[in-house]
Amino acid sequence: MRKLYSGMDAWRYLVRSQVRRRRIETFLPLILSAAGALGVLPFAILRFVQGNPIAAFVDVVIVIGFVSLGTYVYRTHRVRGASIAISVLCIGGVLTTVYINGPQQVYWAFPALMAVFYLVRAREAFIGAIITVVGILPVLLPGKDSLETNTILITIVVTSAFAFAFSVITDRQREELLHLATKDPLTGAGNRRGLDTKLRDVVNTFRRSAAPASLVLLDLDHFKAVNDMYGHAVGDQILKNVTEILNPRIRVTDSLYRIGGEEFVVVLEGADLHQAAHLAEQLRTLVDANELVPDHAVTISLGVAELKSGESPNDWLHRADEALYRAKDAGRNSTSLSD
Ligand code: GH3
Ligand code: MG
Ligand code: MG
Repeated sequence: MRKLYSGMDAWRYLVRSQVRRRRIETFLPLILSAAGALGVLPFAILRFVQGNPIAAFVDVVIVIGFVSLGTYVYRTHRVRGASIAISVLCIGGVLTTVYINGPQQVYWAFPALMAVFYLVRAREAFIGAIITVVGILPVLLPGKDSLETNTILITIVVTSAFAFAFSVITDRQREELLHLATKDPLTGAGNRRGLDTKLRDVVNTFRRSAAPASLVLLDLDHFKAVNDMYGHAVGDQILKNVTEILNPRIRVTDSLYRIGGEEFVVVLEGADLHQAAHLAEQLRTLVDANELVPDHAVTISLGVAELKSGESPNDWLHRADEALYRAKDAGRNSTSLSD
């Protein structure tokens, strides 16, 4: 018997993995903003005690900046904007302290630029490094022996070059991992994680524009029996063939995901229930008409749900799953709509 709400299990897994991923991404900006605040705080106190209120004030502003941005990341889990802001604070902080307190402060450029290369994309950090070097030059050049000046500048450039290379490699690896993490290796369709991102985007767009969107959830009928009869390898080949049948039929604005073993989702952007039901019926008859294995009809059952206002991705998928269950109950090789 078909496992009830298998789509829901997949969905719960997906939400949990999303939360985990977001927590990992917040780690770096949190650590760096904490390190920045704790690193600058002693100097704020020291400069105040030494009777240098302007320098102390600048340090306090930098500490408050780090604490505020760290708190923002901790509360919202929003990483990208905060990472840019922390980078601006790092570079701005280095330049300000070099101009106020003198060229010996230039050593702050090393940890600041390392943080920037970790936080933002390689190209953005590279621009930050150029701004830093050009910015400190007017303070560094006059009144310094040229060997010391050159040593400082060259070590900053070399450190930045290493960090840049590392950052480029990390960015590439991240892109490759994203591809691997969002595609199903068997069929090449999107996977659960890809679906998660898509549904969140579609629901957010719907809240702004109210353009219709629908889901078609489909599941192969009696697939366990097909596996038992022909073997798992043939079963896998059928899953690939079904994907090849579905893919050319869906529009460019639609996307296909394999979320359970033999369960697929088509996300239709800009399609209402009527249009989605029409496509679902086309897909059903198409799979039915294809002789995927000799002398055995491979069919699919489908559940269709149009996104309602105020509905979460979870609720939406749940309704499609209920409709699919009704299609199974009605004898399979059929389509059922969620009202
Ligand atoms: P129903 O019509 O109720 O959906 O019946 P069913 O047999 O399709 O459903 P059930 O959930 O009982 O079994 C699903 C089967 O799908 C179990 C397993 O043999 C098969 N399956 C799941 N994932 C894969 C896969 O990746 N490859 C292959 N070959 N088979 C799979
Ligand atoms: Mg099935
Ligand atoms: Mg199933």
